[in-house]
Amino acid sequence: MELFFLGTGAGMPSKQRNTSSLILNLSAENKGYWMFDCGEATQHQLLRTSIKPRKINKIFITHLHGDHIFGLPGFLGSRSFLGGDDELVIYGPTGIKEWIMSSLRLTKTHLTYPLKIEEINEGLLFEDEQFKVSTLELQHVIECFGFRIEQKPLPGKLLVEKAVEAGVPKGPLLKKLKDGLDVELDDGRIIYSKDVTGAPQKGFSLAILGDTKYCSAAVELATGADILVHEATFDNETGNLAKEYGHSTIGDAARTAKEANVNALIANHISARFMQADIENLQKQGSTIFPNVHIAEDFSHFEWKDEQLRKK
Ligand SMILES: [Zn+2]
Ligand SMILES: [Zn+2]
Repeated sequence: MELFFLGTGAGMPSKQRNTSSLILNLSAENKGYWMFDCGEATQHQLLRTSIKPRKINKIFITHLHGDHIFGLPGFLGSRSFLGGDDELVIYGPTGIKEWIMSSLRLTKTHLTYPLKIEEINEGLLFEDEQFKVSTLELQHVIECFGFRIEQKPLPGKLLVEKAVEAGVPKGPLLKKLKDGLDVELDDGRIIYSKDVTGAPQKGFSLAILGDTKYCSAAVELATGADILVHEATFDNETGNLAKEYGHSTIGDAARTAKEANVNALIANHISARFMQADIENLQKQGSTIFPNVHIAEDFSHFEWKDEQLRKK
C-alpha cells in the first residue's frame, strides 16, 4: 500500500502546495487507485506522477468546500479522453451528485465510462472480501466526513515444504491451498489448508480525514489504525483561528494520533502562511505530543511495508 500526496495546501493553491487531494495506491492488492478529495488542478498534479486517471476507480470526497472538489469535473472529463472505460464510483456528502451532474450537463461533458455517485451517511460505506470502509462525521463548518479503510486479515503464507511432504504435487493444488482451500489428493486423502499454511497476517488500516477541529469522531475513526492522515491547517500559536474556522493545529492532530494510538501521523492541509522554514517548527510541535509525525508536501510518497511507514 502506498500514499501519494497530490495537494497538501489549505483553502487556496500556493506555489508550494496545491489544494487537497491524495491517492491511495492499492494496486498491489488488486484494487487499483483510490482518490481522496479532488481540489482544483488535481489532474495537473497527476500528470507529474505515473498514475493513470483510468486506474482510479473510487473517489472519496470529505466535504463540499471548493478546495476539496473543484478539480472533479476536469478530472472526470479527462478520464474519458484518456481511455477510461471502467466504472468509477464517487462517495461524498449530500449535494455532491447535484454538483457533479450539473457541471457535466452544463458543459456537455460526456463520459465514456459508467459513473456511480453515492451520497454517504455515517457507518459502513462498503465491504468486500478484502476491505471494509467506514465513515463518521467530523466537526467542520459544513458537513464533513473522515474515512477508515481496513484491510481484512491475509491468509497465512503457504508452507511449501510441509505441503510437499504431505504428498501435494507441485502445481495448481499448492495454489488452492495457498488461497485457503482444502484439496483432495489422487489417493483420496484430504489436505487441509490450515495444516500447511502459517497464521493469518494482520491487514493494514488507515484513517483519512477531511477538515476538522479536534473531535472524538476523529479519534474513533483512527483508533488502532496504522496510519492517520489528519489536517494541520494551523500551528499551536494560531490555535484560536483553528477553532474559529473549524480546523486543527498540528497539536490537535498529534493529540488525536496519540489518543487513537496509531503508528504514524501524516499531517496535510497546511496553511500557505507557513514557509518552508516553518515546517520544521510544525514537525517539532507535533512530535512533542506524538513522536512519529510526518508533514506531507505535494508529491510526498509513502509506503507501508513490514508494519512501518517509509518515505519513498
Ligand atoms: Zn479545506
Ligand atoms: Zn473545509
